[in-house]
Amino acid sequence: MTQKSRKGTSNEGHCSFCGAGADEVALMFNGAAGASICSNCIEHGYGLLVEHNIIGEETQSKSKGGKKFRPLKREDLMRPDRIKSFLDDYVIGQESAKRYMSVAVYNHYKRLLAKGKTADVELDKSNIVLVGPTGTGKTLLARTIARLLHVPFSIVDATALTQAGYVGEDVESILSRLLQAADYDVEAAERGIIFIDEIDKIARKGDNPSITRDVSGEGVQQALLKILEGTVVNVPPQGGRKHPDQKYIQVNTSNILFICGGAFDGIEKKIATRLNTNAIGYGSSAKQRINEHNIMHYIQPQDLRSFGLIPELIGRLPVLTYMEPLEREALRSILTEPKNSIIRQYECLMELDNIKLTFEEEVLDYIVDKAVEFKLGARGLRSICEAVMMDIMFDMPVGENGEIRITLDYAKSKIDKAA
Ligand code: ADP
Repeated sequence: MTQKSRKGTSNEGHCSFCGAGADEVALMFNGAAGASICSNCIEHGYGLLVEHNIIGEETQSKSKGGKKFRPLKREDLMRPDRIKSFLDDYVIGQESAKRYMSVAVYNHYKRLLAKGKTADVELDKSNIVLVGPTGTGKTLLARTIARLLHVPFSIVDATALTQAGYVGEDVESILSRLLQAADYDVEAAERGIIFIDEIDKIARKGDNPSITRDVSGEGVQQALLKILEGTVVNVPPQGGRKHPDQKYIQVNTSNILFICGGAFDGIEKKIATRLNTNAIGYGSSAKQRINEHNIMHYIQPQDLRSFGLIPELIGRLPVLTYMEPLEREALRSILTEPKNSIIRQYECLMELDNIKLTFEEEVLDYIVDKAVEFKLGARGLRSICEAVMMDIMFDMPVGENGEIRITLDYAKSKIDKAA
């Protein structure tokens, strides 16, 4: 292999951080003692510096030409196992969802990069639907993927959407948000990711005519079809309702990846009915292995249909996966393990004031106990931590080097006060 001309870079060897080969990345930088770092890891590191406010976002985000997002390149595309290991740094558990997501995202962007090169085969979009209880990491998963790919990302709530002609937001407003996230760079928006939350809330609920609101949800599902599949949409730049003398921006949605999330409360019953095992756990052979803990593993597109999504919509969301409820052990990991875990965030906030913050191990277990007790899942961890940290952050000595250790007694006194 030949060496690239730039000093300190090569197209040989592997990244000491992520293990990527030099031929898989844009650039490989060689350091002392045989260590190397690839351009992807440098970019991720840069992202972390921005996240922790060590450098400003402006320096990081605006690439040459003043654009926030640069065009996608072949080298940007990691293989599914690498995508998954990136997700592992941020999302605890959810093995199945992370695998599905990694493959779907890989295929989606591979399809995008291959445009025009596969003359005979039309590659379909791999829009994703994530089914699982609230607070299990659906949004986090979608957000992390967007961060990895450096593409514009926006979140919309399906409950706010209505069919044209009814009170509420037009479905096109989904794209206004993405355009805003892309700084109105249409090209970047056209390869972005949109997370549609609460997709289960627009499930068909039977006949319930209303003159002001499309309560049945079916109209919104119909309106979403075209956008999900790929079409050119006239988007009102500022969102909201369309009106005749407004200027529109045309956005082609064929390369936008849609990830839909929903709790689909009660879908277990639909799965059980389909599997014809009402006496879950008491059957024989294969049925015996199905119980309330693993029934979601058996979810199929037809269960979404029984729940009230129309078949055409399900057809446009070909990748279906589920999120596990978070058990105590997962909650404990979420507290400290992800790269930007809640505890790390507090430590970082204090460090900025030259204060070293530490927690007694028992405190962390206690916080998890409370989150389990309050049945708030991972979302609860944050509010419980806030209750513990509130007074400390208020009274914190400014500009002094110091150390604060959170003891179990202290944490208990604050949580009991808040409860
Ligand atoms: P959902 O979209 O499923 O309702 P979110 O992704 O919004 O849940 O999760 C809320 C918060 O809880 C996240 O910002 C994150 O801090 C934490 N969280 C939830 N699930 C996980 C997980 N599996 N791994 C790490 N953190 C998680």
